[in-house]
Amino acid sequence: MADENVGAEIPSIPTGHEAGNTRTCPGCGESVSNTATVCPQCGRSLVAGNSMAVASFLLSLLSFPAFFAALSISNNLSVTYGQALGNGGLILVSTLIFFSIPAIIFGNFSLEKIRKSPVPTKGYDLAKAGQSLGCLYVVFSITAMFWLASAAHPRMDNNEMAAIGNIVKIRYAQDTYKKAHGVYARSFAELIAEVSTRASLAGDWHEGVQKEGYIFSLTDEGGDGSSYEIRANPVMLGRTGREYFFSDPSFVIRGRTDGPADSTSPSISKLGDFIR
Ligand SMILES: [Zn+2]
Repeated sequence: MADENVGAEIPSIPTGHEAGNTRTCPGCGESVSNTATVCPQCGRSLVAGNSMAVASFLLSLLSFPAFFAALSISNNLSVTYGQALGNGGLILVSTLIFFSIPAIIFGNFSLEKIRKSPVPTKGYDLAKAGQSLGCLYVVFSITAMFWLASAAHPRMDNNEMAAIGNIVKIRYAQDTYKKAHGVYARSFAELIAEVSTRASLAGDWHEGVQKEGYIFSLTDEGGDGSSYEIRANPVMLGRTGREYFFSDPSFVIRGRTDGPADSTSPSISKLGDFIR
């Protein structure tokens, strides 16, 4: 068909006369059919590129790694849960604005351009993929926003419950130790050196040990084994726990949210927000 056109038109009709049906080959200058994908004269490809389709596809593809990379950086920089949530939201909105929404817009533009183009144009599959992945990211980001808002709190509750559980275990071990020695252990080292208490305190215990987002300390400020102080502080306040805990032989667990707890801090049963 392309050969027919070229053969018929060149001798009789001046180039550009039938502007609706022919175009000039940029390679050799011959007039060729609009529908030709290759110039019959010089062999040059006549399929038009579509950079918007490429842009749409790349942007949609990048939105996912961009989100996870930014989230991982933000997680390392955010100290409090509120900051992590704020940064997470900002990252999601940014990736929507800079990646997936442009991907959808570029995809739509290039599909429109391909449909209207009188000449064969590349990029239909890329534009379609860009548009679809862009839409997928919108759905993903909405889901991720709900996840960000809900996931961290239960995890933190778990850490706090684990910290309280560990404090109870340490107190139980101290009582066992006292029955055997007449005094309380003055450190974790002393406490786990005793076979009967080691069983109730499973795992590794030493000063400053980290367990489920909390740092544990066991001291004897009196120095004579008549008392002891247990402290459990969040590794990162707001991220691994919302509250500092303190306990001693009084059996009351005390808590504070604004700094390390001590014997003057309120009992955690009085902190309405903790055990719901
Ligand atoms: Zn040509």
